[in-house]
Amino acid sequence: MEYHTSEGTFQVGEEPYLLTPGPLTTAISTKAAMLKDWGSWDDDFKAVTAEIRSRLIAMCGGEGTYDCVPMQGSGTFSVEAALASFIPRDGKALVLMNGAYGGRAAKTLEYIGRDYIALDKGDYLPPMPEEVEAILSENQDVTHVVAIHCETSSGILNPLKGISDVVQAAGRKLIVDSMSAFGALPIDVSDIPFEALVSSANKCIEGVPGFGFVLAKKAALEAAEGNSHSLSLDLYDQWSYMNKTGQWRFTPPTHTVVAFLEALRLHEAEGGVAGRNARYVSNRDILVSGMRRIGFETLLEDEWLSPIITTFFSPRDHKFDFNRFYNEIKSRGFIIYPGKLTVADSFRVGCIGALDATVMKGVLKAVEESCAVMGVTEFGPPDGVK
Ligand SMILES: *Cc1c(COP(=O)(O)O)cnc(C)c1O
Repeated sequence: MEYHTSEGTFQVGEEPYLLTPGPLTTAISTKAAMLKDWGSWDDDFKAVTAEIRSRLIAMCGGEGTYDCVPMQGSGTFSVEAALASFIPRDGKALVLMNGAYGGRAAKTLEYIGRDYIALDKGDYLPPMPEEVEAILSENQDVTHVVAIHCETSSGILNPLKGISDVVQAAGRKLIVDSMSAFGALPIDVSDIPFEALVSSANKCIEGVPGFGFVLAKKAALEAAEGNSHSLSLDLYDQWSYMNKTGQWRFTPPTHTVVAFLEALRLHEAEGGVAGRNARYVSNRDILVSGMRRIGFETLLEDEWLSPIITTFFSPRDHKFDFNRFYNEIKSRGFIIYPGKLTVADSFRVGCIGALDATVMKGVLKAVEESCAVMGVTEFGPPDGVK
């Protein structure tokens, strides 16, 4: 398919692959779904919204007791909406932090004026269930625990099941930022009975950006009335209006929503969460073993590596220059992601999106060629870093 726009002519499917944690590379049929215009109040569009909500509820096993509230904006808008709507103004949160997104949750609580304490594990260590248990028993006034499922800034997969167990045992409520994990890592409410879980269109479901969604207990949504400081981010209001009218309260990103339904159908055709997980795990395994063969080292031990994104230390070789590396790889058809560590220079390579084994092998070849062009021969991290 060749397209002509004011930016020039391009071939769909020939742009670089995005090895990033979203926005990511989407399927052609997901892009094609956006070629139609929709009336946001029309029954056909209402049916799209309803189907999306019920598919997402089914994905976490929440039929009957949970509901799904889509929210305009990027994922952060939905996280803020959830924190403001579910944590009452006199509530108090414990934020489990080990990277940028835990940090952002804490910053959000500051903005919206909710009291919180934090367990900060730095860049790459997981918050352990025993630690959470101890903090909860010392802080009886904590009402909600905010956990990041996969902390995308390092790629660490946090021990959510263990955290959920201690939160339930202590009688507190769990809010999960599963932005970069939902749809690819199994999470079922019979196992992890979260109060609310947040994700967005452009991560593991492989849609395009424009909205997020919150899966929450119906009882929590009922109780959220009047909590939010913000009209546009009020989940209770969005939920009750949507249940009454079938419509979004304010203009929805119609093209994004319709593309997302196509992405959900592709997700189902791939075998649902299990199928998607298998492809991402295979992508990650090809990537990590290939990079280690070249000589690169991962930030994390194998136990904590997610199938979402992997952080590699930048090589100690003084000939390595990240900007040049990035551009060499881009000229070979792949876009990687800078690192976000405070301890050492690093870069990240994502495994999510419409990518398969052939693409991952292509990335490895591009990395090898790019290092050869720069004359890099020493790939390990600088001494003292690991
Ligand atoms: C992507 C992501 C977000 C949301 O980021 P946006 O840029 O607002 O879409 C939040 N938490 C995690 C863990 C993420 O990976």
